[in-house]
Amino acid sequence: MERVLGIFFPSVCPVCKKPSDELATSPICGVCWANMSRLPTNVCSVCAKPLEVEGITKCGDCYAEKPFYYTVRAYAEFTGAMKEAVHLFKFSGVRRLARPLAELFKTIEIPEADLIVPVPLTKKRLTERGFNQSLLLAKALSDFTKIPLSYDTLLKVKETPHQTSLSGVDRIKSLKNAFVSAVSVKGKSIAVVDDVLTTGATLNECAKALVKAGARDVAGIVAARTVLQ
Ligand SMILES: [Zn+2]
Ligand SMILES: [Zn+2]
Repeated sequence: MERVLGIFFPSVCPVCKKPSDELATSPICGVCWANMSRLPTNVCSVCAKPLEVEGITKCGDCYAEKPFYYTVRAYAEFTGAMKEAVHLFKFSGVRRLARPLAELFKTIEIPEADLIVPVPLTKKRLTERGFNQSLLLAKALSDFTKIPLSYDTLLKVKETPHQTSLSGVDRIKSLKNAFVSAVSVKGKSIAVVDDVLTTGATLNECAKALVKAGARDVAGIVAARTVLQ
């Protein structure tokens, strides 16, 4: 019980384990928020992967095969305090991290969109977790951008193994036809919200389903992006 209470009313920051008096108003301390590694400015204009070379705008992968989404906007690298915060949010159920995480979106350029759509979970996964972390972020983003939110435009109809356990090719295979757009989104620009972008395979499958349902274009907005060192 103490452990459970400790998660919700921590006396030490759950990320850096140091005491902080900011924890009454914020789920993690100010130092940890400030220590999140922002993505470098020189990233692929499509998938937000950091670019090694100056003077180019797209990475080799996006040149070789154009994804169904046209851009990804990400706040930070998925490492350090950001990684800890996302894990607390997603797997320890610290839902009050949704708002401060979504606040970070205020510092990135949000592409113009008619509709905000969260990356959905299957019904089974939703029941297990009790909430969809992407929906909570999408809701907060919708509140401050005033772009309408739709949580039933995109559905996940196929259970997929945890993506972190799969290689790139297997990820793509397992996600095939996992998402469907249940309603027409003809001519609409859609912003798809997720907590983390790893390879972009999930976002690409979501974008594919939305484009199939008539979307004009699809952008991704994520709190963090995995950067391979
Ligand atoms: Zn901290
Ligand atoms: Zn790219």
